[in-house]
Amino acid sequence: MALNPRSIERLKGVHPDLVAVVEIVAKGSLNFQVSEGLRTPERQRELVKAGKSQTQNSRHLTGHAVDLVVLNPDGSANWDFAMYEKLADRIFKAASIRRVLIEWGGHWKTLRDGPHFQLPFSKYP
Ligand SMILES: [Zn+2]
Repeated sequence: MALNPRSIERLKGVHPDLVAVVEIVAKGSLNFQVSEGLRTPERQRELVKAGKSQTQNSRHLTGHAVDLVVLNPDGSANWDFAMYEKLADRIFKAASIRRVLIEWGGHWKTLRDGPHFQLPFSKYP
């Protein structure tokens, strides 16, 4: 598989370390697309208001986060959390090859976010 044009467009402005990891995983058999990369402060405010994000300090604002949506064979979104565990597994494997540290929203306790992957503040201030 390869990233579709929409995904490539949405990776604009995203940190090259994160892009490299996403590109490696995209070559595998799990089909996904990038639903969001860089985010404007306006959109972030809307998401917080809607309860879909808990922080005004999102890594999306600085290009340090991406949201990846797993796709069914017909191209529709697959929201089964098990699929995101599979995706995260591949992301972490690719990240370790590239020696990139990645945090997964699926590990968050308060608002579990399966599609969300980010570079940590500690290594990427
Ligand atoms: Zn996100």
